[in-house]
Amino acid sequence: MLGLMQDWPLTVDKIIDHAKNWHGEREVVTRSVEGPIVRTTYAQIHDRARRVSSALKDLGIQPGDRVATLAWNTANHIEAWYGIMGIGGVCHTLNPRLFPEQLVYIINHAEDRIIFVDLTFVPLLEAILPHIPKVERVVIMTDAAHMPQTKLPKAVAYEDAIAGQSTDVVWGDFDEQTACGLCYTSGTTGNPKGVLYSHRSNFLHTFMGLQATVMGATPKEVILPVVPMFHANAWGIAFAGPAAGTKLVMPGAKMDGQSIYELIEQEGVTFSAAVPTVWQGLFAHMKQNGLGFSTLKRVLIGGSACPESLIRGFQDDFGVEVTHAWGMTETSPIGTIANLPPEILKLSYDEQMKYRLKQGVPPLGVELKLKDEAGAELPHDGATFGRLMVKGPTISRAYFKEDGSILDDEGFFDTGDVATVDDLGFMQITDRAKDVIKSGGEWISSIEIENIAVGHPKVEIAAVIGAAHPKWDERPVLILKLKPDETLDKQEHLDFLTGKIAKWWMPDDVVAVDDIPLGATGKIDKKLLRDRMKDYRLP
Ligand code: ADP
Repeated sequence: MLGLMQDWPLTVDKIIDHAKNWHGEREVVTRSVEGPIVRTTYAQIHDRARRVSSALKDLGIQPGDRVATLAWNTANHIEAWYGIMGIGGVCHTLNPRLFPEQLVYIINHAEDRIIFVDLTFVPLLEAILPHIPKVERVVIMTDAAHMPQTKLPKAVAYEDAIAGQSTDVVWGDFDEQTACGLCYTSGTTGNPKGVLYSHRSNFLHTFMGLQATVMGATPKEVILPVVPMFHANAWGIAFAGPAAGTKLVMPGAKMDGQSIYELIEQEGVTFSAAVPTVWQGLFAHMKQNGLGFSTLKRVLIGGSACPESLIRGFQDDFGVEVTHAWGMTETSPIGTIANLPPEILKLSYDEQMKYRLKQGVPPLGVELKLKDEAGAELPHDGATFGRLMVKGPTISRAYFKEDGSILDDEGFFDTGDVATVDDLGFMQITDRAKDVIKSGGEWISSIEIENIAVGHPKVEIAAVIGAAHPKWDERPVLILKLKPDETLDKQEHLDFLTGKIAKWWMPDDVVAVDDIPLGATGKIDKKLLRDRMKDYRLP
């Protein structure tokens, strides 16, 4: 027997409809790419998103067609997003930090028909233009006054494209399983792979994000997503913000410490989200200038492991609570979140740290297990390393245009991460499977060593890779990018690790380098680092 409740397809146009109807005057503030701060509201965003839809229909965009964005976090980007999705188009967020050849690959693979591009990225798009012949038209996200001279095909200014367009357009009215967004993983191995979100998955992910134990957005909060909309949908904030009627502050092209700090203070930001590396610039700026926060209460940190120095820095110096989370493009991206339960909250702050450094527990809607190489499930004892497997309605089951399921027999997706789960259910990522260091048949977590090593005051970035060893197969080497004007004293860094990690995890060597490469989503690019270190031999 079926239930007797209404069928109300979970399509994301309803999110921005809701924002307009019930939070219409709530602001979205943007540092525009042209420079000035621009203020708009959910009602205006809704109106202009509908004009985007009308313009796209005039250009012949049909349901299922891919329309790309190559843009920063701005209100215009939100409008384009909802305008594309509302009529059943698939919004393909392009990551400008990908190598040009990867961008060419994904634009062609996705068969993007139209690209919305910010002024910043016009030269980037022009450079790859000969290689993306199927792109019919480019919409430059500016007004006529700021239009550059360009050879992009049939380039039109965004403001001109939507001016005079009708708001009378039909949104939704299709199956909730309809494709809605497309985001490629950065493809550190092989070609990038397309993760194809559905309206339903994005809608359910929005509910997930709204839980108090996740982001807990409310109209009282002011959220500044530093994490880009092109990196796993800004972790869902461009959906959760309008869904909850939360004021959004969009940083545009300027992500340096001073610019972010200014926005946080001027706009009363209470909550922000970004990968760990972003905060270093902000900290440096604040320390140099003796600044504090007057409104910021919480930050969500994920994308790579959050070091203790960052958690303590926020808490001790600025009174800001760090929530550590794990996820990936394939998980929409929320996978787990380190929200502390009473058993942990009753501990002292120092005792809590062990848990704060973990990535936490899954919210409702994500199932999680650890398995060994043979597929057997592993215990939750906080010590056994296993492959992290996840399942749920916001998790990929296949990649775009690639045949076959990517799930195991029980429907779990292999994240490619290696993790432990403790008796309180707190998951901790120990490594990506391909980065794990195998020494004498046992695994060493490079992430754990890195996160301690980066807490040394002289260190800017720390990376640990395995180097070939005749007896142990591999031994860890600590690679450091030091802060400007610092010089390396190897012993100092080994001493800093002593007592904090098992003795047999102690790196066999410490090497200083000028640069540790970061990938397109702001994480250490271990593959490139290993390539650069291929001639290195242990002493
Ligand atoms: P890409 O693979 O394109 O860099 P993703 O953002 O999808 O992009 O990367 C997901 C991966 O990032 C995860 O599989 C995991 O290895 C890593 N990751 C994400 N969050 C964390 C975290 N809090 N701690 C450690 N690793 C993380």
